[in-house]
Amino acid sequence: MPQLGFDGMPRRLYPCTPSRLRAWLDCPRRYRMSYLNRPAPLKGPPWAHNSLGASVHNALAGWWRLPLAERDPPAAVRLLERGWIPEGYADGVQSLRHLNRAKDMVERYVSALDPADEPAGVERTVATKTESIAVSGRIDRLDDRRLPAGRELVVVDYKTGRTAPDEQDTRSSLALALYALAAGRVLRRPCVTVELHHLPSGQIARWEHTPESLGRHLRRAEDIAAECADADERFASTDEPDRADVAFPARAGAWCGWCDFRAHCAEGQAAGPARRPWDGLAS
Ligand code: SF4
Repeated sequence: MPQLGFDGMPRRLYPCTPSRLRAWLDCPRRYRMSYLNRPAPLKGPPWAHNSLGASVHNALAGWWRLPLAERDPPAAVRLLERGWIPEGYADGVQSLRHLNRAKDMVERYVSALDPADEPAGVERTVATKTESIAVSGRIDRLDDRRLPAGRELVVVDYKTGRTAPDEQDTRSSLALALYALAAGRVLRRPCVTVELHHLPSGQIARWEHTPESLGRHLRRAEDIAAECADADERFASTDEPDRADVAFPARAGAWCGWCDFRAHCAEGQAAGPARRPWDGLAS
């Protein structure tokens, strides 16, 4: 059923993902290049830390898809070796060093799991709607936990970066809150707990939302989406690059060194030096 807007005209829900909303908040210029400019500007080279993260995520997802009897730590290591993405590393030696590091972390992480504890979803796409947005996203793992009071769905997100996230990161994550809301609505079960599992350190940052805190995140998502929708309209209604630049200002800072579109952004280049593709790896 379409939503009614002004003058009884059907108003389209704004389709979005948490990543899209985050991109707008981080830098409107980067948002434009990622989601609106077509053809999209050429991105910089792949990042080794992203390759490592994707390799680990794929191995863990593949592990849960194995038959129960095959889910042991060596199987996770084999999956990682087979699916290793070697892009972005300085050379084969560096790639191999980080493969070995990743093997250790995956083996350690999987050793602490109960393979029989079947998740409710692995890399599961969930979606939900409000009066103004249709938001969707993919959850790394959706646990179906046994608690004294019954069963509860828990959103699990894997992290492989250098710094372990803390409780504040978990509590303030728009993406995790939207995943929890969407998972709860799709599966019609309570889902208020979100966790960040940092594989390099083994630390887990956890937060239990309330319906109110989830509602606040949802309203924030709607507000950000409304800004995106306005900006998208402005973009569609002009083909003058200068005006598009005004509607999508560059938010330059130290982070520009990591931006995929730095080569197309004078402000970002002036903000600091480019990072090498392997600079995001742990030393
Ligand atoms: S280089 Fe910086 S300012 Fe430019 S698009 Fe990227 S994040 Fe934005």
